[in-house]
Amino acid sequence: MKKNENTWKEGFHLQMRGVKLLNEFCSGRFKVLILKQAVETAAPYVGIYLSALIINELAGLRRPEELWRLVLISLTSAAAIGILTTLVRHWDEYHRDRRFERITNIFADKLLSMDYADTDSAEHRAKLNQIKENRNWNMWGLEITELITEHFFAGLFGIISAAVLTVSLFTCQIPAETGGKLIFLNNPLFVVVIIGALTLTAFLGPACKNRANAYFTKFTEETKFGNRIGFFSFVAEDSKKAADVRMYNQQKITRHYLEYDNTFYPGGPVAKCAAGPMGLWQALGSAISAVLTGLIYLFVCLKAWGGAFGVGSVTQYVGAVTALSANLGSLIWAFGNIKNNIPFMKNVFEFMDVPNKMYKGSLTTEKRSDRQYDVEFKDVSFKYPDSELWALRHVNMRFKVGSRLAVVGENGSGKTTFIKLLCRLYDPTEGEILLNGIDIRKYKYDDYMSIFSVVFQDFKLVSQPLGNNVAGAMDYDRDRVLKALNDAGFGERLKSLPKGLDTCLYKEFSKDGVDLSGGEAQKIAIARALYKDAAFIILDEPTAALDPIAEAEIYSKFNEISGDRTAIYISHRLSSCKFCDEIAVFDKGSVVQKGSHSELLKDENGKYFALWNAQAQYYTEKK
Ligand code: ADP
Repeated sequence: MKKNENTWKEGFHLQMRGVKLLNEFCSGRFKVLILKQAVETAAPYVGIYLSALIINELAGLRRPEELWRLVLISLTSAAAIGILTTLVRHWDEYHRDRRFERITNIFADKLLSMDYADTDSAEHRAKLNQIKENRNWNMWGLEITELITEHFFAGLFGIISAAVLTVSLFTCQIPAETGGKLIFLNNPLFVVVIIGALTLTAFLGPACKNRANAYFTKFTEETKFGNRIGFFSFVAEDSKKAADVRMYNQQKITRHYLEYDNTFYPGGPVAKCAAGPMGLWQALGSAISAVLTGLIYLFVCLKAWGGAFGVGSVTQYVGAVTALSANLGSLIWAFGNIKNNIPFMKNVFEFMDVPNKMYKGSLTTEKRSDRQYDVEFKDVSFKYPDSELWALRHVNMRFKVGSRLAVVGENGSGKTTFIKLLCRLYDPTEGEILLNGIDIRKYKYDDYMSIFSVVFQDFKLVSQPLGNNVAGAMDYDRDRVLKALNDAGFGERLKSLPKGLDTCLYKEFSKDGVDLSGGEAQKIAIARALYKDAAFIILDEPTAALDPIAEAEIYSKFNEISGDRTAIYISHRLSSCKFCDEIAVFDKGSVVQKGSHSELLKDENGKYFALWNAQAQYYTEKK
């Protein structure tokens, strides 16, 4: 008993949290929903009431002027209700159609506000995937929270409307002179019997249907297989992956799961359950509703037979009871699903409640026009959140303001990790990073981030106009964007673009959009970094897009345009970085050598010498 109470309490608590969260992202959504439900639910009851009045008049006194009046009222109210219902339905549909993207935005917003380390964590990715699968297969989670609210108000307004229309069913008595034996129906006990039957109709039928729906929750785990279905449908849409998929027939693997081995395939676990216990509970629910509604009809007809009210009132009561049972069904559906939705809402809030653990200080980084920012790594070591291995070990480094630093080393030696720590995407596991002598954790996060511009290896441009991409904003300084693009070497290509800065990148949202080569995209990404005008500018190895010669060209060009900024270059190709003032050689997460190109080459036993010779031989042969 106690356990059950807790479940209900938990269900209501989660439902209310869900409503609050949805409302935060679209204030006014629930006001529209409640208004629509009030109008939609009450409308049929108004019709039932007015029709009953007309039928009573026709079967009774038949006064022409009274009939005209009733017909006029009926027509006017039908027109008014029709207009009102259509208006609120359209209003509601506008919000309803955006439900999917609204809920997607809730999770996107959470992802963007989470600590970067958490967005990368396998545990949180799995949570988000589970939420997506729950949404996909039966709208479980936040989608159904909105539907529950809608059904709840349908039930509530239905009860109020039906109560108003059926009060007279109990107050109108069968007259002794016409009632004969039927007079026993005047006994107040029948009020209890009929309300009892109504309640049973309302509760037992839908309760059986809820019992049937509860079987859905048993499949929470299995729905993870939905990932394969998702892969199949989405990968086909992704033009960049299409070639790879065709080459290796990846669609065959996913199609196998889609057609023969997933939770939903014909003959699969969900289908068996639907044909078995789920179907039986549904059928029982319908049968109980039909029998109990029949009993109520019998009572109404017998009272009319005895002369308690006219034939018009029979239509009123029968109509009200029929409409009420549908509305009560909605109410029970709402209550049942508040409970059924518990595990899915727990998934939602386990993700939404992931705390931001990264300490964010309050010091401001003064905006220095001389860019005199001094950054130092002091014995920094780092392990990724889900890893036992040290990605960086005992790293010590100090940046000379305005200098060119190269970070070189083989793949996997820790170069990108070093940059991610520098930009505070992660905090060191051991040691500290200082900005002008103060631990970087003590600065305001956004302030600290604003002194860095990074062109990441896997940078992303969006399918929006070129100018917006470079500025990272809707409004921007066109002259500065043009300068940044010219400096980054995109000037010639820009001249060939029909709409200049307003040309859309890629073709997803504009048929006039332009496709870019890897090198062109890289230049735009560099222009974006220049436009930000941060004190530190960092170029992570653009391996995928460029060959070694092109990379070396970009790096030396970048050197020219970096001006008085502190520039950091990352590459496993040593020739790209030999112009730098200082080169830090990474190996297995540690800095094994530091110095200029010529100094490092002198140490014939050093890592740099070995790497240089291995790579120089390759370039010589190529030449
Ligand atoms: P580089 O940039 O020199 O190629 P990285 O800094 O990317 O090297 O990687 C350093 C080490 O950290 C590697 O062993 C790599 O496998 C590991 N690593 C990188 N990213 C992650 C991650 N997100 N989670 C766990 N380990 C990672």
